Amino acid sequence: MQRTVASLSRGFGRRTLATLDASKVTITNTSQQSQPRPNNELVFGQTFTDHMLTVEWTKANGWGVPEIKPYGKLALDPSSCVFHYGFELFEGLKAYRTPDNKITMFRPDMNMIRMNKSAARICLPTFDSEELIKLMGKLIEQDKHLVPTGTGYSLYIRPTLIGTTDGLGVGVPDRALLFVITSPVGPYYKTGFKAVKLEATDYATRAWPGGVGDKKLGANYAPCILPQLQAAERGYQQNLWLFGPEKNITEVGTMNVFFAFKDSVTGRKELVTAPLDGTILEGVTRDSILSLTRERLDPAEWDINERYYTITEVAERAKKGELLEAFGAGTAAVVSPIKAIGWQGKDIEVPLTPGEQTGPITKQVAEWIANIQYGKEKYGNWSRVVAEL
Ligand SMILES: *Cc1c(COP(=O)(O)O)cnc(C)c1O
Repeated sequence: MQRTVASLSRGFGRRTLATLDASKVTITNTSQQSQPRPNNELVFGQTFTDHMLTVEWTKANGWGVPEIKPYGKLALDPSSCVFHYGFELFEGLKAYRTPDNKITMFRPDMNMIRMNKSAARICLPTFDSEELIKLMGKLIEQDKHLVPTGTGYSLYIRPTLIGTTDGLGVGVPDRALLFVITSPVGPYYKTGFKAVKLEATDYATRAWPGGVGDKKLGANYAPCILPQLQAAERGYQQNLWLFGPEKNITEVGTMNVFFAFKDSVTGRKELVTAPLDGTILEGVTRDSILSLTRERLDPAEWDINERYYTITEVAERAKKGELLEAFGAGTAAVVSPIKAIGWQGKDIEVPLTPGEQTGPITKQVAEWIANIQYGKEKYGNWSRVVAEL
């Protein structure tokens, strides 16, 4: 008897949850369209475009109707789980104007895969990547006059997902909000490259095996600011995050990091970055650099390796004259040349091209990526057209 009741109610209760569906989007236009700011006034992430995208999710119904509407404040209950237990994750990617008057996003499929991995890790809902790519495209199209023009200028896109369950119980959120905001941005370094000094940091740990350092969870970032301030007090702009008793090099600030060496005996060169072992954020820029250098640097001269390497190796090889270059890699700056690394009270000097703030490999890699991003060169499916101008 009971079994019958149970199976009956299960039958009635079965509902298909709505999936994320870009075709359902509703668009409410702003009453006052803003004018683009002059390029020299664009500060990273300080001003936003006229519209934003929001989509609510509930455990009972799945994904709701996506809304593009005027940029504005969110209203959340103070007990909302995002405020107490860190149910938050984000992405960062860019859209570019191309010479043939299109707006393109750079490898958005990679960001969507990563966003879904972040969501799954903290029990927030996942979604169909293609649908969010379409929705971001529609959002950008809405504000396309605000995508800045000029090499180095772009529209930074910030998709975000938060848990919005009210109440202080710690558990799986039954409500969530996905939103996307966009910010017109200029080049990270206004006057060409500016090489940075890093402090090799072993007293604080950014990520660890079995942890979540390979996910773009907001909770990973707040704890990294204090060590950055401490490094800044000693004259270093960023932390070079080390891990473990071996003092493996992992990342720099919120970027992946690459080192170039030249073996003084064999003359072979090597471009190296840490392997994706769960302690490294899977950067789209990192992946792009590995693909391009594996394809374009002469294999008779170069090895491109994902392997463990330590600050001790870097210090020793710098001493032997085997350290060629080092640079950070991430969406915001694309590549960021490194000129020195503070370690055990001394600076390891990283060579730069005389009279420049970069080295030749760093510069080459930056140019390869910029040419693809700004549509001077087509590369596979890396550029995704979102609007025609
Ligand atoms: C976002 C991020 C990167 C770079 O990833 P991209 O996809 O290249 O922008 C690297 N490290 C950390 C810790 C990050 O948060």
